[in-house]
Amino acid sequence: MIAPVLPVYTRPDLVFERGEGAWLITEDGKRYLDFTAGVAVNALGHAHPKLVEALTEQAKKVWHVSNLFRHAGGERLAQRLVDATFADTVFFTNSGAEAMECAIKMARRYQFASGKPEKFRMITFEGAFHGRTLATISAGSNEKYIEGFEPRLPGFDRVPFGDIAAVKKAITPETGAIIVEPIQGEGGVRVPSRAFLRGLRELCDEHAMLLIFDEVQTGVGRVGKFFAYEWAGVTPDIMAIAKGIGGGFPVGACLATEAAAKGMTTGSHGSTFGGNPLAMSVANAVLDVVLEPGFLDRVAKTGLLFKQRLAEIRDRHPALIAEVRGEGLLLGIRVLVPNSDFVAACRAENLLVVAAGENVVRLVPPLIVGDAEVGEAMQRLSAACSKIEAALIAQARRGAAE
Ligand code: PLP
Repeated sequence: MIAPVLPVYTRPDLVFERGEGAWLITEDGKRYLDFTAGVAVNALGHAHPKLVEALTEQAKKVWHVSNLFRHAGGERLAQRLVDATFADTVFFTNSGAEAMECAIKMARRYQFASGKPEKFRMITFEGAFHGRTLATISAGSNEKYIEGFEPRLPGFDRVPFGDIAAVKKAITPETGAIIVEPIQGEGGVRVPSRAFLRGLRELCDEHAMLLIFDEVQTGVGRVGKFFAYEWAGVTPDIMAIAKGIGGGFPVGACLATEAAAKGMTTGSHGSTFGGNPLAMSVANAVLDVVLEPGFLDRVAKTGLLFKQRLAEIRDRHPALIAEVRGEGLLLGIRVLVPNSDFVAACRAENLLVVAAGENVVRLVPPLIVGDAEVGEAMQRLSAACSKIEAALIAQARRGAAE
């Protein structure tokens, strides 16, 4: 019999009742160090007092008004995002995939409004992940996610990530945009060269194409800058964000320059819940903290320390860890046992981490972690490595004895 919750996920048998900062606590009181942060979502950890206060204060006022009416919190958040980024305008959504849908529609509509509706095609990348809607699985590269859901939405041309020559070759008179994650998260914490991202910008300028950055995972401080495009030294025309901006409350946004948004006129797009007052109040509170002077520098510093400590553990366990990757607190280790086994071994040490492509284990703690939590995570990682190694040795001995 099918489970009441549609069984599209395999979940370990853990039920969390509450959270405190970087910790999750089960119903029976077991504490887990949460270096998944809801897959790079809980930027300020669990139950951050400022977020709890913002949400409860708003909950006492008004929950939902729809987009039929103005809402002060949404207008304030949009203005703050505009002030702090390349963008001139913002559309609010409830998730990353919806933010990407808006980005894709906006790029098509831009070309339409420019008198070039034939430029509907977009270049995308191997290893890319943009969400689970039909358009975003068509733009993404994971064949497992599209199997049985065909036909794909036409118009996406996939090339190897980081290969500027392949991008150049793929451009046709019908190409209207390039969609890229400045650092691929689900794909395996794949960091391209900044020259590659600069090259994409140049190609977009040369060929009247829009550059779309998917910063759903990299955004809102995750890489030690407010957005990864600052790290890359490149400005997109359109950018999708979600995850961290809500600190755990479902909210996303599509940011754009005035020029890129020129096709998005009244009635061209919409959402019932996008810009919901509860979401807006929490996102404004997230910005209060993330944009505080020194916050992002601390993320960058903690990220660097964490990466160094991970490099040390790689040196101690070369048969288990092949590589350390990432920027800020979007870090990954490429492991030499199945990454699901490694994730399970960490969980046995009460450390939560999450798998990614290329057999990588992702470490994406809340951005509020400091030396103490990093030290704690290192001890647990070290214990997990030792136990995996001991099990491998025991297995090899059994094999030799047989
Ligand atoms: N884009 C990127 C880069 C992501 O990492 C994700 C989610 O992991 C998405 C889009 C989809 O976001 P959501 O799951 O909120 O729809």
